[in-house]
Amino acid sequence: MEVYVGLVPSPARRSWTYTRATLTGDTKNRALPAAFAESGRPGSWPCPRFFADPEKLARSLRTLPGVGTTLEKSLARMGLRSVRDLLEYRPFRYEPAAPERRIAELLIGEEATIEGEVRQVGVRRPRRRLSLVEALVSDASGEVACVWFNQLWLQEKLVPGTRLRVRGQLKRGSFAVRDFDLGEARATADNAPVYPASEEVSLKRLRGLVERVLPLAHEFPDPLPASLRTRLELPLRPDAVVALHRPARPGQGEEGRRRLAFDELLLFQLALARVARERDASEAPALGPPGSLIERYFEALPFRLTPHQLSAVAEIDHDLARSRPMQRLLQGDVGSGKTAVALYALLRAVEAGYQGALMAPTETLAEQHFLTLEEICRGLGVECLLLTSALPAKEHEAARARIASGEAQIAIGTHALIQKEVAFERLAVAVVDEQHRFGVEQRTALSEGRSPHVLHMSATPIPRTLALTLYGDLELSEIAAPPATRKPVITSWVSEDRSEEAYRRLHRHLEAGRQAYVVCPLVEDSAGQARAAEQEAERLRTGELAGFRVGCMHGRLRPADRREIMARFKERELDVLVATTVIEVGVDVPNATVMIVQEADRFGLAQLHQLRGRVGRGAEQSYCLLVSRPKEELTEAAQRRLEALVQTTDGFELAEIDLEIRGEGQLLGARQSGFSDFRFTRLRTDRALLEQARRAARELSPGLAGSPLEGELEERYAEAELGGLA
Ligand code: ADP
Ligand code: MG
Repeated sequence: MEVYVGLVPSPARRSWTYTRATLTGDTKNRALPAAFAESGRPGSWPCPRFFADPEKLARSLRTLPGVGTTLEKSLARMGLRSVRDLLEYRPFRYEPAAPERRIAELLIGEEATIEGEVRQVGVRRPRRRLSLVEALVSDASGEVACVWFNQLWLQEKLVPGTRLRVRGQLKRGSFAVRDFDLGEARATADNAPVYPASEEVSLKRLRGLVERVLPLAHEFPDPLPASLRTRLELPLRPDAVVALHRPARPGQGEEGRRRLAFDELLLFQLALARVARERDASEAPALGPPGSLIERYFEALPFRLTPHQLSAVAEIDHDLARSRPMQRLLQGDVGSGKTAVALYALLRAVEAGYQGALMAPTETLAEQHFLTLEEICRGLGVECLLLTSALPAKEHEAARARIASGEAQIAIGTHALIQKEVAFERLAVAVVDEQHRFGVEQRTALSEGRSPHVLHMSATPIPRTLALTLYGDLELSEIAAPPATRKPVITSWVSEDRSEEAYRRLHRHLEAGRQAYVVCPLVEDSAGQARAAEQEAERLRTGELAGFRVGCMHGRLRPADRREIMARFKERELDVLVATTVIEVGVDVPNATVMIVQEADRFGLAQLHQLRGRVGRGAEQSYCLLVSRPKEELTEAAQRRLEALVQTTDGFELAEIDLEIRGEGQLLGARQSGFSDFRFTRLRTDRALLEQARRAARELSPGLAGSPLEGELEERYAEAELGGLA
């Protein structure tokens, strides 16, 4: 139903006018702000009460009552800084309906809700770091002991006589509480959202915070033209946000998510369209066929390329022969052998008299790549250099000079490599490792209208057909299977009270001549992390691993020392490397067959998958032991992550699960990984939506200038970030 809603300012005429809005059942009382959202850029007009006011969304969470410095920091670690972040924090599922039961009728194992009165409260501490709050709750039919894990603060709330609703399961004679309400029923209600929580911020806390900011959902502008929105049957954006957090019926949360997913897919497609236009306008050096350098390279490799690697190589050759800049995505799971293909592309540039650049997301990874590549390059007489910000100013300058003169044939560094002050003499091929946004600033590295050929490498696999739709004209190569020599790593999840057993197993492998990694728990800052690693190495030297040679590796070491330790580990002068996540990527020692990850629940899924990729690189069977506190003390998301790792080594499957859980990028110290562009999209199931977004992007692209969508596009994809696709 379309109706006139009244006097609103017209952005175009800067005057007051009547505006129409579509009213649906859900939106009746919100028609006014929605009308504004559709009528242009809101916020710049008087009468803010009637306007969507995105400024309010930008407010820091600190401004909320009850959010102090500590909570603010904990939230920030989960990626939640502004009201907007919180409103866009996606529940990974909703609580299904749980039947209301009288206590006497509870069935063992069934999820149910009970309502009753607290009779008695007590606390037990069966173990270090485990406390149980137990409350005897009764209703007319009987009584049951309700148990909460590690929530001591509840002791004071649950005074005898308190009425409460509790949702959980009857297990071993007591009722294990999953959720509860002391006042108004929210958490125990059906369809209650379940957010990825963290150690520091509980689900309950998150729900409370979201509830508090939910009224501000109406400050979201809706940049979609109304005609498009109605055609695709998408709810208004503010309504979608509300539905996401407080679905009135099963399925409504999903409808909200779908709308928000559409928006991000649309913006992504608009950004792609923009860079594709730029790419068409630029040119790269067309390279001749491979010659003797490449021949020598193949001879120097200690293995033969697999058929998958060879076809990737052939596809790259095809691109390099043309002057249209290559934009190829090389997909292959951790350990599938992407590096050999990357070096191939770089050497093709060198052979033709040009330069190559390899960019990694972190300095450590860049160093690792340097170690691997430099060894081969030296044998081939190719000049290779490492440029990181860790270099002293003088050396940094000297390195830049060698890049500028063309003396350095291959430069390895972080993504900063082809930014700002680094000018290549003649860059022909750039390889970008693990850059999930597939973007890199490269313009300054280029002279007018020239672009290098770019090979993007990703270990986050997505199915081919999907990638093609998603990335439009990005070419795709896949290394669909690892070298045949490899056996999948056997992973187990061990509770820390049984960690001795893990070390006993480790002993056996070390005695058999194998090597191992012990990954230290995540600590917030790198100094603390380094200290923790040193201490742990010392503890193991004198404790569990006495008699073995234990080295220690962390980000605070000088690059030269780090290199030396890696070299000693490679040469088997060390049996065990105690390390931080520094070893996450790039480290390659086939004789290392065991990895122990301490406090594994604190790591993200993608990160654990990467870490695990450090073992299983040789012909021997490898093992990964994930050590954590007992299962029942972990957050639900943490349990799901560890279970997933035990179940599969398939990176594609893990990526999907990761997308489902979505807690990973927010955990302490976890680097953003996975599809950081997509908060709401479920790549596997949103194909149709993706198609719609692509079509909409084509439709809207020409008239984008000056529209609210353009504003969002600018905000989200600053020009520089997608430059790599140009
Ligand atoms: P990723 O794809 O994770 O970057 P890497 O390139 O580091 O994988 O390769 C993983 C391991 O596999 C390395 O030890 C590498 O030397 C080895 N490798 C790569 N290609 C082959 C091959 N064709 N045959 C045997 N081993 C290979
Ligand atoms: Mg790699």
